[in-house]
Amino acid sequence: MGSGTKFRVAICGAGVGGLTTAVALSQYPDIEVEIFESANKLAEIGAGIGLFPRPWEVIKKLHLEEDLLKATETKPTEGPVASFKRNLMTFHRPDFQNALLRRLPPSYRIHCSKRLQSYTQRQGGPISLLFEDGTKASCDILVGADGLKSAVRRSLLSEKAQWAQSENNWSEAADIAALIEPAWSGTNAYRALIPADRLRARDPHHRVFKQPTQYLGKNGYIIAYPIVRGKMINFVAFKSQHDLEKTKFNDPWVGPADSAEFLSLFKNWEPEVQALLDCVQKPLRWAIHTVKPLGSFVSGNVAILGDAAHAMTPHQGSGAGQAIEDAYILSTVLGHPSTTRATIARALSIYDHIRRPFAQKAQERSRLNGQYFTLNCKEINFDRVAEHELLPKLQVLGQVFTKNWEWAWTTSLGGSVQEATRLLESSS
Ligand SMILES: Cc1cc2nc3c(=O)[nH]c(=O)nc-3n(C[C@H](O)[C@H](O)[C@H](O)COP(=O)(O)OP(=O)(O)OC[C@H]3O[C@@H](n4cnc5c(N)ncnc54)[C@H](O)[C@@H]3O)c2cc1C
Repeated sequence: MGSGTKFRVAICGAGVGGLTTAVALSQYPDIEVEIFESANKLAEIGAGIGLFPRPWEVIKKLHLEEDLLKATETKPTEGPVASFKRNLMTFHRPDFQNALLRRLPPSYRIHCSKRLQSYTQRQGGPISLLFEDGTKASCDILVGADGLKSAVRRSLLSEKAQWAQSENNWSEAADIAALIEPAWSGTNAYRALIPADRLRARDPHHRVFKQPTQYLGKNGYIIAYPIVRGKMINFVAFKSQHDLEKTKFNDPWVGPADSAEFLSLFKNWEPEVQALLDCVQKPLRWAIHTVKPLGSFVSGNVAILGDAAHAMTPHQGSGAGQAIEDAYILSTVLGHPSTTRATIARALSIYDHIRRPFAQKAQERSRLNGQYFTLNCKEINFDRVAEHELLPKLQVLGQVFTKNWEWAWTTSLGGSVQEATRLLESSS
C-alpha cells in the first residue's frame, strides 16, 4: 500500500457500475483501487444502451462527455423536455465501456478470470476475498458490482442471515436468505442489432431512422433506436406473462431464441414492425430477472451497487443509469476528506440511506411501465375496445406512463450529492 493511501478498495465486476465506480474513485489519489472481473476479457455485449439526463450529469462530472459524444448521434438536451424520446442518449455498449476504460488511471489493475466466490470480514480487519480458482486477495472496502447473480450479494446476505440466526431470529434469517436468488419478472426480451442498410433496403423511410420508437400491444411491446452513428438499429421486443411474475424460470436465462417462435409472437403487428422483424437475425432471448427489494445495500465495509443491489426490469431504460448514480454517490462518500479507515462503515451507511430508497423506487416504477407498455393498466380497460375508443384510451395511457417515468428527465442527482455531503459533515 502506498504511503499516502487512506484505504484500498476492491471492485468486483467490471460492468457499467464497476467501471464507473473506478473512474469516479480516480478523482481521489489517496484511494487505491483494484478490479476483479470473472470474464477472461472485457467485452460488453453488442447491444444498445440508453441514458437519461440524471446519469448523464455524472458522465459530465467525470469528464467522459466529450469522448462519448463522438460515439453517438444523439445530443444532450438543455433543460427538461416533456418526452423520453428527446432525452435519451443512446450508445453501443462496447463504445460506452471503452470510454470508461480509457479514463482509468494506469495504476488501477484489472484482474480478469477472477470470479469471486465469497468474502469474509472481521471488525476492524481487512476483508478477505476468495476466488473460484482458489486464490485470495484482501482489501479495506469491497464494492460488489457483480451484476444480477452477484456473489457479493450472496455473501453479504448469508452473513446477515447468520447474524440473525446467532441471535435465534430464525424467521428473520429465512427472510434474508430468501432475498439471495433473483426473481423472474414474467417477461422475456428478444434482442438483436439490425444493420441500418438492411432495414433501408426493406423500408428506406422507416421511422426508427429518425427517432427512438416504441410499438405497444397486448402483453408485448417493441423498442427500436439507431446507434453507432446510425449504422445499426438496436432492437428489443418484449413478451410478458404477468401472471407468472415471481415464478421460477426453468430454461437458461440467456440464450438463442427460436426464430419461428419469436416471429409468431408478433405476427399480427403493424407493417412497420414487420419490416423490423424481417431484418432481425439470430435474436437472443433474455428471461428478465430482478433482485427482490433488499433491506440494505451494505454490511460493515462491504457495499453492493447496480444490478447486484437492485436489478430492475428494463422498461424505464434506467438499470445502468441507476448503477452510474450509485457509483457516483458511493465514490463521493468514500472520497470525502472526513471519511477515514475508522469511519468507512458510517460512510457506506450514508450511501445506503441515499441510494436504496431511490433505486428501489425506480425498480417499482420500471415494473409498472412494463405493465403499461403491454396494455395492462388498472385505470384503463383494453379488453374488447371499439376502434373509435382506442386512440383516446392510448392517449390516457401515454399520460399515465409519462407521469410514472418523467423523474428520469425532470429531476437531478444534485440533491442526493448535497444530502450525502451534509450527512458526512454533520456530527457522527
Ligand atoms: C434488454 C435490456 C435492455 C436494457 N436497456 C437499458 C438501457 O437502455 N438503459 C439502462 O440504463 N439500462 C438498461 N438495461 C439494464 C442494464 O443493462 C443493467 O442495469 C446494467 O448493465 C447493470 O450494470 P452492472 O455493472 O450493475 O452489472 P453488469 O453489467 O451485469 O456487470 C457485472 C460484471 O460483473 C462480472 N461478474 C459477475 N459475477 C462475478 C463474480 N462472481 N466475480 C467477479 N466478477 C463477476 C460480470 O462478468 C460483469 O462484467 C437493460 C437491460 C436489459 C436486459
